[in-house]
Amino acid sequence: MTNLLRFHPSTSIEGGTAVGNSYLCASVACPRKWYYSYFMPSGEAGECVGIQPKKVSNFLLTGRVFHEGLAAWYNWGCEGGEIDNGSRNLQEAIEIAEHVHAEVYSQYLTPTIADDDLHKVRDMLIDYHEEFGPDGREPEYPQYQVAFDDKGPLIERTFVIPLEYKDYNFTTQPDIIMWRDGFLVARDHKTSSTGFGAVGKRLKKTRLDTQFVGEYLALTTYLSDQPLDGVEINVVVKERRQKKTCKYKAGVRSDVFGFSEKDLKAYRLECIHALRGIDQGVTWWHNAVEKGHGLEDAADIAFPRHGMRVGTCEAYRDGCEFRELCENKDRVEELIIENYVARKVEDVDREVENPK
Ligand code: SF4
Repeated sequence: MTNLLRFHPSTSIEGGTAVGNSYLCASVACPRKWYYSYFMPSGEAGECVGIQPKKVSNFLLTGRVFHEGLAAWYNWGCEGGEIDNGSRNLQEAIEIAEHVHAEVYSQYLTPTIADDDLHKVRDMLIDYHEEFGPDGREPEYPQYQVAFDDKGPLIERTFVIPLEYKDYNFTTQPDIIMWRDGFLVARDHKTSSTGFGAVGKRLKKTRLDTQFVGEYLALTTYLSDQPLDGVEINVVVKERRQKKTCKYKAGVRSDVFGFSEKDLKAYRLECIHALRGIDQGVTWWHNAVEKGHGLEDAADIAFPRHGMRVGTCEAYRDGCEFRELCENKDRVEELIIENYVARKVEDVDREVENPK
């Protein structure tokens, strides 16, 4: 079976503080959400790493398991080390998905949900292979081919660019970068339980997502001498259609879209603005703690619950993962022990690719 780590090449950025779009968006959406996610002292030695729920909504886990399976599926054709030969291995993809599923099993709400989810991911990979694989209904090779650099295939590669503010670096990880008709296209896979009829609408909204502006900003920096065309979203629907006779496409793809210089500049400035807000909150928090305030009081001073005013608490499918803390202010400590763990910092530490 493929060693998962080989998707990540062995060069690391030196120094600096790596931040991604989710980190920045959490702060803009609600300073308190950022505090809980990335700063609240929670490590074994009281390090400020933030907390995360012990149990996670399965739609997030489905995406993670499916992504790793699909990365293995594409990686199979790149085994030779220099080009994508178009071969794909469904069994390998399923084995990797099963491996990742076992790793995250304890985070599912219940074993039944976890088991159902694995069936779903297997079906999605089978459908994807039957649609886009070498003998599929609509094979994507050779029109689409995985792109390489001197370290290997550009699958799940992390890119890092300096934000030109203090020592902050922006990190992003497109799912895959492919050649399409002589141009490079970054592609992100999204799993969706929305029916096929609504996927078009979802794609229109997705286009505005800051994740993709940030991704494009990093790629235009890193791949500045390459014919980068834009970003493509590949939505893979989780549910089979009810009518068994009805064949459907396993993935619905957006048009390739890019962003103007003005968009990219505005995004960079927004990042800096968010980081200034975070830095200010951290300073205020330290001052409050030094003056003897408890953790929650210091957080109230430095990281207000703005989400309650702007609707972030209810955003996304299941709402904010810290809602029970904000709704039960006098039981925060007890609830954290029951339902949260220190955030795992693997994503920030992940091996990364520096700009040239
Ligand atoms: S529940 Fe609302 S106020 Fe509390 S952290 Fe989440 S978004 Fe912010």
